[in-house]
Amino acid sequence: MSAKLVCSVVVPLYNEEEVLLETYKRLKKVMDSINESYEIIFVNDGSRDKTATMANEICNNDQTVKLIDFARNFGHQTAITAGMDFSDGQAIVVIDADLQDPPELIPKMLAKWKEGYDVVYGKRLERKGETLFKKFTAKLFYRFLRRMTEVEIPVDTGDFRLIDRKVAEALKLVNERNRYIRGIISWLGFKQIGIEFNRDKRFAGETKYPLKKMLKFAFDAITSFSYKPLKLASYSGMLLSLLSFIYLLIVLYTKLFVPSSTQPGWASTLAVNLFFNGITLMILGIIGEYIGRIYDEAKGRPLYIVRHTKNFSEDKSDKIIRR
Ligand code: UDP
Ligand code: MG
Repeated sequence: MSAKLVCSVVVPLYNEEEVLLETYKRLKKVMDSINESYEIIFVNDGSRDKTATMANEICNNDQTVKLIDFARNFGHQTAITAGMDFSDGQAIVVIDADLQDPPELIPKMLAKWKEGYDVVYGKRLERKGETLFKKFTAKLFYRFLRRMTEVEIPVDTGDFRLIDRKVAEALKLVNERNRYIRGIISWLGFKQIGIEFNRDKRFAGETKYPLKKMLKFAFDAITSFSYKPLKLASYSGMLLSLLSFIYLLIVLYTKLFVPSSTQPGWASTLAVNLFFNGITLMILGIIGEYIGRIYDEAKGRPLYIVRHTKNFSEDKSDKIIRR
C-alpha cells in the first residue's frame, strides 16, 4: 500500500455553478503549495444547476478531485458528513464552496494539527458582505445556544475546520438525523483549538441558507443539545398557573365582597385568555419540535443516498447509503 494520504478537503456544493471553478483553482493552488498528499472531495448535494456537470469535468482532468453525487438535496450538514465518511486523509478539512472561508487558512490549520491538535476550527472575527440581519441573528443565536447547553460549543464558529482522522471515525458512530455537526464535534471532545479569520463575502451567487433553512438549523442545534426549552416550558407553565391562581382569588374576593363591581372586565378576561392561549401554543410548538425529531429518529431512514461517485481509488460501495 502507498503511504497514507495526509489531507482531505471536503467541499459541499448546492447550486454553486458560479463559484465552483474559482473555488477549485484557489483551493488547488493552496493545496499544491503545501507539499503533502491530498484529495479534494466535492459533495454535490442535489444541485439543480450545472454544478454536477462542472464537477464531473474537473474530476476528468484532475485525479486528486473526487466527487460524491447525492441522489437528491439532503442538506449542508449531511453533505459534510458524507464527505468525511468517504475521505481517506489523516486530516480532514471542511470548507464552504463560496470562498467565504479562505482556503489560504488551511496551511495554518495543518500546522496546528501537526502540533498535536485534533480539531482546529476557524473562528469568525468579521463577516463581510452579509446582511445586518444575518450578522445580528447569528451573533444572538450562538450566544443563546451557549446558554442553553452544557456542551461547550465555541461561538461564532462555522463548519470551516480541520479534524483528525480519529475524530472522523468517532463521528461515523454518531447517527442522528437532524445534525448540527459543529456541536457534535464539540461534544466528542478531543483536543480543540480555534484560529481567527475574517469571513469574506460570497464570491458569487446567492446564499443557499434562506431564512427557512436558517430557522430549521437553529432548532436542530438547540434541540440536539438541550432539553432546556422543555424545562422552560414547564417552569413557565407552573409560574403562570400560580399567577392565575392568585388572580382567581382576587376575582372571587371581588365577586363576593365588592358589590356591583363585576360588570366591567371583558378587557381583562380577553387579555388573560389571549395571553394564555399564546403561551400554550408556544409550549405545544416546542414539544412538537422535539417530537418531530424523535419521529425522524424512529423512522430510521438512511441519512443519505449516493447516486454516483467519481475518482475514488478504493471501493466505497459499502458507503453509498449511510444508515
Ligand atoms: N450547501 C449544501 N446544501 C444545502 C445548502 C448549502 O451543500 O442544502 C452548501 C453550499 O453550497 C455552501 C455551504 O453549504 O458550500 C454553505 O452555504 P452558504 O454559503 O449558502 O451559506 P451561508 O454562508 O450563506 O450561511
Ligand atoms: Mg456562504
